[in-house]
Amino acid sequence: MFEDKRVVEVLEKYRALWSIEHALSLMGWDSETYMPSEGVRGRSIASAELVLLHRRLLLDNIAPIVEKLVDSETLNLYEKAIVRVLWREVEKIRKVPERIHYELAKLRVEASKVWRNARPKGEFNVFKPYLIRIFELKREEAEHLGYYDHPYDALLDLYEEGLRDKDVKAIFSSIVPTIKRVLERVLGEGYYPRAHMLENIEYDVGELERVNREILNILGFPWSKGRLDVSAHPFTTGLSIWDVRITTRYEGRDFRRSMFAVIHEFGHALYDLQVDEKFAMTPLEGGVSLGVHESQSRFWENIIGRSLAFTKIVKPIIDKHLKFTRDFDIEEIYKYFNIVRPSLIRVDSDEVTYNLHIYLRYSLERMIVGGEIRIDDLPEIWDDMMEELLGIRPSNPSEGVMQDIHWSITAIGYFPTYTIGNLLAAQIKATLDREVGKLSQLIESSMFDSIRSFLRGKIHIYGKLYPPKDLIVKSLGEPLNPEYFNKYLEDKYVYKVT
Ligand code: MG
Repeated sequence: MFEDKRVVEVLEKYRALWSIEHALSLMGWDSETYMPSEGVRGRSIASAELVLLHRRLLLDNIAPIVEKLVDSETLNLYEKAIVRVLWREVEKIRKVPERIHYELAKLRVEASKVWRNARPKGEFNVFKPYLIRIFELKREEAEHLGYYDHPYDALLDLYEEGLRDKDVKAIFSSIVPTIKRVLERVLGEGYYPRAHMLENIEYDVGELERVNREILNILGFPWSKGRLDVSAHPFTTGLSIWDVRITTRYEGRDFRRSMFAVIHEFGHALYDLQVDEKFAMTPLEGGVSLGVHESQSRFWENIIGRSLAFTKIVKPIIDKHLKFTRDFDIEEIYKYFNIVRPSLIRVDSDEVTYNLHIYLRYSLERMIVGGEIRIDDLPEIWDDMMEELLGIRPSNPSEGVMQDIHWSITAIGYFPTYTIGNLLAAQIKATLDREVGKLSQLIESSMFDSIRSFLRGKIHIYGKLYPPKDLIVKSLGEPLNPEYFNKYLEDKYVYKVT
């Protein structure tokens, strides 16, 4: 697979980088799970030093060889992919002046700290100077990276290789009208409720943990290669194809939140675990992009987890452990899993409204980056747009413009990957229905092994071998097509097809 002598040399040198990434991931996982609070004092130094070492090794040992291979015609598919992935990393660093990298790294730490303190009090003015500087620097970064039509192109590409502003624009002009139509219908009809009593019932944390573990058993989580732990915000850390860890949280009531977090993170974990073993410890290990990764988590969480078929599978498990669910029939549990309620908070939003939250963030980000609006006016514009899209208005910046961590950690251009994930998940479902058999029947027969191997063959096995857009065409037969998501929403929420 890897024959070219220079590529083999690169891979040998890459092993040290991989090891640093491995250590950083483990340290990151530990910081969110078991590290004692004062441990952060040493941990932040250790991770900053390792990041610097990683960068030095990449630029000094790997970049000079990769640079000579960029235009090579003699490399095979696998070798070319190695060069593509590493060259992207090198260019992200080399094209941008050191002072911008340095200031952004510093701002990331400071601004997120300021944001964390100012958010609960809704003090936008305290956070504002940081946000202004972050957007200025990201705009500068975009100029250095280069772009096609809009500086936002450059920022999108940092998170989703090849994604451009015109792609995102086309996606939203397809889905926003459908979402609005479906939402109006759902709210008028009331079949999918705006609230459910089960949201308020307290659960026993130990019992819910047993539910979560049983669900992971059914889905096929390999415990010899993974763990489930607890953190403030659920996440997945892939350390290698043999060690992937997921977390969830236990808030005490509304048990579906903890359960769906587990199913979501299972989807992320499965992707990392099912990459071709030949790519282990190479630059091709792991998922190809944030959007494709999110398609896997959303596929398991929403398309499988919130289906009627899955509700039937999971009902005996929750009844056994939580007991209070025994008073509700399958349809009631299904409705509870699928509450549709316009919410001010993105992370609390449902399948129907979620992408409107992303549309809002996308619109604002690209207007700021494009110099069309000023940060001073941001809270007002946010609230107006929220009202226009969802019919509700934040009373405070903490439930409006200040709710997400992303901007404070300089992640501009990140949000659209969530929508890519939601849309791609629906497209994958359509492909599976067509090529393997109806998903709802596979779920009802607990044929999760068939679903896992379908996803492995279509997406997981390739790791980063193909750029995301090429992978989608190769595996699904056409580029990302928002119509599958529109149809999925209408089938489920308007026609009640299960
Ligand atoms: Mg996710």
